[in-house]
Amino acid sequence: MSEKFDCIVVGAGPAGISCAHELAKGGAKVLLLERGEYPGSKNVMGGVLYRKMMEDVVPDFWKEAPLERPIVEQRFMMMDKESAVTVGYKGMEWGKEPYNNFTVLRAKFDQWFAEKAVQQGAVLICETVVLECIVENGKVVGVRTDRPNGEVYADVVVLADGVNSLLAQSLGFHKEYKPDEVALATMEILKLDKGVIEDRFNLEDNQGCTIELFGDATKGILGTGFLYTNKDTLSIGVGTLLSGLIKHKIKPYELLEYVKNHPMIRPYIQGSEPQEYLAHLIPEGGFNSMGRIVGDGVIVIGDASQLVNAIHREGSNLAMTSGRLAAETILTAKAAGDFTENMLGLYRTRLMSGFVGQDMQKYKDSTHHFDKFPQYFDEYIPMMNRAMSQMFTVDGTSKWDKQKKIWKDLGGTKEKMKLARDMYRAWRVIK
Ligand code: FAD
Repeated sequence: MSEKFDCIVVGAGPAGISCAHELAKGGAKVLLLERGEYPGSKNVMGGVLYRKMMEDVVPDFWKEAPLERPIVEQRFMMMDKESAVTVGYKGMEWGKEPYNNFTVLRAKFDQWFAEKAVQQGAVLICETVVLECIVENGKVVGVRTDRPNGEVYADVVVLADGVNSLLAQSLGFHKEYKPDEVALATMEILKLDKGVIEDRFNLEDNQGCTIELFGDATKGILGTGFLYTNKDTLSIGVGTLLSGLIKHKIKPYELLEYVKNHPMIRPYIQGSEPQEYLAHLIPEGGFNSMGRIVGDGVIVIGDASQLVNAIHREGSNLAMTSGRLAAETILTAKAAGDFTENMLGLYRTRLMSGFVGQDMQKYKDSTHHFDKFPQYFDEYIPMMNRAMSQMFTVDGTSKWDKQKKIWKDLGGTKEKMKLARDMYRAWRVIK
């Protein structure tokens, strides 16, 4: 038998790194295993990094982390084929320390973050695939890797292996996810001159903007697109439920090309050069798709346990918080010398009573609701665009007559009842 650790963490994404960092800081002997050549080499995100949850692990990280831009503006575009209704918020307070959120490129950021865990004392080994958990008498006691004599043992194994978590699945913690429980996102990183980015997005140095795209960005399929500013690149992407792509027979890269060529988006990216093309799954089944997250000697964190809030495009922050809470629980278990499911269940209690569990429960029906009623994206967003176009066109018609026309265009009593019912239903699933 090879060396034994207090804890083995599988996967060096935000969840796994946070967990390893906090465990090592608390004096535990931790092994962090990553299949990629380096942390971040396999990882994909839009990506907005949330300051608060990162700061809970590395205080004042913004002073040294490889961040792209602090976000000072968030816009939301409700797109039709040749128009868009845009709302947003820009605030100078977000451009000052300690900032609010940042854009990041995961390949750079994860490497830096993992190095922080190593500085705390975690052992990081890359280019190592964990093939399975070693289970003895119903308890997880270690992992088997693809290295020669690749068995490693520990009191606790933390599965932070991301959305597909084949390891949690093989333990029977969750079933294979169905196409309506995961989204497929494709994105590109486009090289563009820093000054051009700042002119086009109305930014100054060290200011960033995010634009979320709804409606025609996904050809009316449930999902969203995004366009984010980095230092001298743009991140553009689109993600929809796999079931939507299958149903509409659309290939993900076709959707990305469609967004890039959309008249509302094209002017922002004109003249840019593709630098990277990325694709990744996002767990979007929500609370109802979460499987077991604790067993004897094992805890599941981050995307591996479906912790994504799709409505608010939050994932990395839930991953980091789950990693930190798992570490706190394991340190308590270590002090008690008890690594049973009963003891480790403290993690579930802490997770579900905090913002992560509460938000997961708040939006538990949202994905399936919006998937079941596609009219929100393919009927109501175009309707909103037509109404705005009519209202803002100055053509000698009185505003009262315009309002009457917009009301009439909503349809007869039956259509208006349906619209009112849908708005009420939407309010109920996100309230
Ligand atoms: P991951 O980041 O997926 O990390 C899992 C790690 O485990 C990887 O490094 C992987 O290589 C490794 N691994 C997997 N299997 C094994 C194995 N068997 N052995 C060893 N290593 C293994 N979230 C946000 O907060 N903001 C955003 O703007 C945002 N935008 C997104 C845009 C896109 C296109 C996508 C795909 C996701 C986005 N998310 C965003 C979600 C966010 O990326 C995830 O929620 C977050 O990365 C989850 O972190 P994690 O550590 O759980 O998993």
